[in-house]
Amino acid sequence: MYLVQIASECAPVAKVGGLGDVVFGLSRELEIRGNSVEIILPKYDCLRYDQIYGLQLTFQDLWVPWHNGAIHCSVYFGFVHGRKCFFLEPHSEHHFFHRRVFYGQHDDDQRFAFFCKAALEFMLQSGKHPDVIHCHDWQTGLVPVLLYEIYQHAGMRHPRVCYTLHNLQHQGLTGEHILRATGLNRHAHFFHPDRLQDNFNHAALNLMKGGIVYANFVTTVSPRYAWEILNTSHNFGLGHTLYVHRAKLGGILNGVDYEVWNPEIDRHLPRPYSLNHLDAKYENKHALRQRFWLQDAYKPIVCYIGRLDHQKGVPLITHALHYCLQHGTQFVLLGTSPNGGIGHHFWRLKQLYNDNPDCHLELSFNEELSHLVYAGAEMIIVPSLFEPCGLTQMIALKYGTVPIVRATGGLADTVFDANYADRPYHERNGFVFNDYNNTGIESALHRAIGLWYAYPQYFRELTLNGMHYDFSWNHPGQHYLNIYEYIRDK
Ligand code: ADP
Repeated sequence: MYLVQIASECAPVAKVGGLGDVVFGLSRELEIRGNSVEIILPKYDCLRYDQIYGLQLTFQDLWVPWHNGAIHCSVYFGFVHGRKCFFLEPHSEHHFFHRRVFYGQHDDDQRFAFFCKAALEFMLQSGKHPDVIHCHDWQTGLVPVLLYEIYQHAGMRHPRVCYTLHNLQHQGLTGEHILRATGLNRHAHFFHPDRLQDNFNHAALNLMKGGIVYANFVTTVSPRYAWEILNTSHNFGLGHTLYVHRAKLGGILNGVDYEVWNPEIDRHLPRPYSLNHLDAKYENKHALRQRFWLQDAYKPIVCYIGRLDHQKGVPLITHALHYCLQHGTQFVLLGTSPNGGIGHHFWRLKQLYNDNPDCHLELSFNEELSHLVYAGAEMIIVPSLFEPCGLTQMIALKYGTVPIVRATGGLADTVFDANYADRPYHERNGFVFNDYNNTGIESALHRAIGLWYAYPQYFRELTLNGMHYDFSWNHPGQHYLNIYEYIRDK
């Protein structure tokens, strides 16, 4: 099949979180299975250009209609660790992708609406007619809308659209100006509850809702999250829309790219290790301690890796840090926050524990360093308020780092409690708590740290159980192909 991914992230060139990993990993799996896959991305100025091979101008004169005129764009092509990527660069006074950041700009709605329009215009003008276009999150929600309302009439009748919801928290609320800018116009048509009108703010358009309504199939990133967004209040106001379109909604657990995340072949680690050579993991623990100036002591290391966002359970991460330090455990954190208040909170904690030989907070985004943290720690916490899928617990399992998670979304689909899971012991792989409060996370930490000290042999077994799991793209890759074939043949 001929597949095109249109996305705002692709690891490692443009990665903010799991979306980037998914776009890269899924594309690789689909190619391994004999499909032709191309990825279309914005040409941000903050791309990791060192990770693009053979970047060259491939399409010079792309004119993208915008408001009453058109914006001139150049299209570049390059390989990102073997993946074929096209990068769209607009030349205009808006400087849409020259902001030194991926997101968080006042005109994000326009930046990504333009990206959707430019991606389709590029496909039209360069004669690309894929079987399926796969797009992701609110940033590309307009793709199926534009395809159906404009581009199919210009000749793009063939492509079907699969739309994946990675996180319902951000939906891309915008206004009427986007209709004028993109040429959709027809105010009354789109400001309609069955189309793009936001379910609560009737004066706003909702780009994610547009994606859900117009796509041929909608997926989200774990079966549990699919259930939660349909049956609980965790849908940020999109419950009714999802219910109406439930026949084309499915939950597919994300995979992990084991070419990138595998302690046996990980070139970022001082010492590779595997199931059969678990002791070598402790050389990485030693290296992590050296890197973070932690003391060498007979203590486990608990880590947190991820965005520092309300969703991720900031109060519980903070409580876990204090609890660990008071209970014979070292604590390391690798994270950044786009939110000023949360960022400030962690900078204060960092200052507070600056001289503590058992604690280190690394407040930056550092892909390479994250590999060492996964490998060097013995436990990882993921105390999210909600979590569509979560990759950190799955990566950690592969690295023999026991996850301690809250039972929500994809975390509940992948982590099975050492003491209470409804599974045989060899399938249990971590610690799970339900209540989103200090007592909840304490109960799980208490059991995890207690097991490490009192029954190291059982802790080791639990670690090995986790390493046995296969969360590769193998199964999800097949699920996505089934969906692509289903919508192509419909
Ligand atoms: P989300 O998509 O909500 O951010 P996920 O758990 O799905 O969360 O994916 C997070 C991804 O981003 C993982 O690959 C994780 O290792 C990576 N990551 C998050 N924060 C950092 C950071 N500060 N430095 C390096 N990698 C990070």
